[in-house]
This record gives sequence, C-alpha cells and structure tokens, in this order.
Amino acid sequence: MAPEATTDYEIESQGIITSTVDWVFNWARKSALWPMTFGLACCAIEMMAAGASRYDMDRFGAGVFRPSPRQSDLVIVAGTVTVKMAPVVRRVYDQMPEPKWVISMGSCANVGGPFPTYSTLQGVDRIIPVDIYIPGCPPRPEALLYGLMRLQDKIMREHPTRYFFGRESVSRRDSKPAS
Ligand code: SF4
Repeated sequence: MAPEATTDYEIESQGIITSTVDWVFNWARKSALWPMTFGLACCAIEMMAAGASRYDMDRFGAGVFRPSPRQSDLVIVAGTVTVKMAPVVRRVYDQMPEPKWVISMGSCANVGGPFPTYSTLQGVDRIIPVDIYIPGCPPRPEALLYGLMRLQDKIMREHPTRYFFGRESVSRRDSKPAS
C-alpha cells in the first residue's frame, strides 16, 4: 500500500527544522567565541570587568578567555599598542587559527589615543585587520559587550560555505593593512 502524502503541518509536527549550512556555521561560531587572554594597558581593566560576574560575557558565549592564541578565535586589542609591541601583536594574530576576528577596544587601539608620538602605533589596523572598533578612553564594559554583539551580527552575515567552493579566501592573514 502506497504511503499517504505528507502535509507541511505533518512535517512540522515531526520536529524537522530547515535552515542553511551558512546559518548553522555562523550560529555556532558566534555563540562560542574564545577571546585571547591579552591586554596592553588601562582598557584591559575594563575588559577584565566585562568578563567578571557583574557583566558576565559568558551570556554571549564569549567568556572563555584562552591562554594560547592557538585556542583563540577573537583578539580584543585593549590598550596602547607601542611600535615595539606591534610585531608581537601581529605574531599573536598570526598564531590564531582561522576563522578569527579582531575587536579594537578604546581610542589607543583605534587611533593611538592621547599619544600622537613616534613610539605609539597610530591604530592597530596598521598591522592587523580590525572587525569592530569601540570608541572611548576607556570604553566601559557595556561598550565592549555592545561591540561583541555587533561582531556577532557581522559573523551571522558571513558565508563560510563559499570557502569550500573557492569563491572567498579562507585566510585574511595576507590582507593588506591600512596605510
Ligand atoms: S584608550 Fe584611554 S583607557 Fe584605553 S588604553 Fe588608551 S589611555 Fe588607557
């Protein structure tokens, strides 16, 4: 005996969810960001506060700060980047596996802050590609959480399946830094 035709309602009642592979990848990635344990100056104190119980970054799936770049997919550049420190920041970024993202936290990381001097890098985007800029000196933990949510929005707009078919580069490592 031939099986009866299945209606849309019956499909729903069987617990089937339809979505795209891109959406599933993006949702998994944005819900489990692992930031690098990495701070450069006073903005890092605000970053630590964001990870503590009062602000609780774990609510956004991003509270597991990792002690190694090889286990991290998010670097929050929190503080003044000196010219001497810049190669180290670049090396930390290079050691992180793809996919990876960068938040520039505070005026110093964005544009050098109150230090327009020869010894201070005038923006971390001169050495690594930045996804989200958070203004302020220092930005409060709420600002970091807001930036984190905007990064999650950005991740949800990515198309990871295009990597499989060679339509986008897997790595942004060789992307040209801002001049
Ligand atoms: S932006 Fe302000 S608070 Fe942040 S590292 Fe620079 S001087 Fe310190």
